[in-house]
Amino acid sequence: MISLLMYHQVSNIPEASDPLGLAISPKKFDQQMAFLYKANYKCLTLNEAVFQWRNGLKNQNKAFVLTFDDGYQDIIINALPIMKKYGFSATIFLVAGKVSNSSDWRKSTPASFTKILTWEETQILIKNGFTIGSHTLNHPRLTLLDEQQARAEIRGSKELMEDNLGQTIDVFSYPYGDSNPQIQKIVAESGFSSACGVDRGKWGFYNLWRVECARKDSLLKFFSKVNGLYLPFYRFREESSLGVKLRAFSRRRLIYKK
Ligand SMILES: [Zn+2]
Repeated sequence: MISLLMYHQVSNIPEASDPLGLAISPKKFDQQMAFLYKANYKCLTLNEAVFQWRNGLKNQNKAFVLTFDDGYQDIIINALPIMKKYGFSATIFLVAGKVSNSSDWRKSTPASFTKILTWEETQILIKNGFTIGSHTLNHPRLTLLDEQQARAEIRGSKELMEDNLGQTIDVFSYPYGDSNPQIQKIVAESGFSSACGVDRGKWGFYNLWRVECARKDSLLKFFSKVNGLYLPFYRFREESSLGVKLRAFSRRRLIYKK
């Protein structure tokens, strides 16, 4: 199987500055990448994975895609050297309107504002084989916007990134993993070929499920995420009629918080 892994920060910031548990220490990230390398897992680009799914090819055994949401500067400082060591690359979903700025959309936790990559640093990642995708202009919860605002965030981020990076941006990820069929349709109409969510809602090419790699994950938990051991449960919860009914009872817990 191909697992899509979602990261945010690779950093040693203290727990107090990381209330959402988004930051993985460089040491832990190195251990995870070393595990994948030693066990002969293959690192694919997002488009390679989508190509296999779209064409109904027999999935590559033991394969994964690394993705980073938001585009934090510590990717280039801490994660890039580790990935280069193992010959891995990743997709970075950049909040295009916050380039060279900080994650100031986290209004409730200003202490955790973190620097976002510059365009020059993003170009360095591209030169190292990374894919750059969009994560909107301002990191809004897209389902709460009216259609015009949502189109501006989605299409506007693509245009801004293409102007500054000189290449086509064709993959997208939803802030907070939050989308619905209307938002997914706007993303498709804006020229993106696929989009990543989290493990919520029906799986599709505009809601590719990803598993989040979190600060406190043990290597055993990481192993279970890479190998999709959680998937039968998520499929039941998100895609069966009984699962959807049961989900309504615990709706509050299921709202993705980040
Ligand atoms: Zn995000």
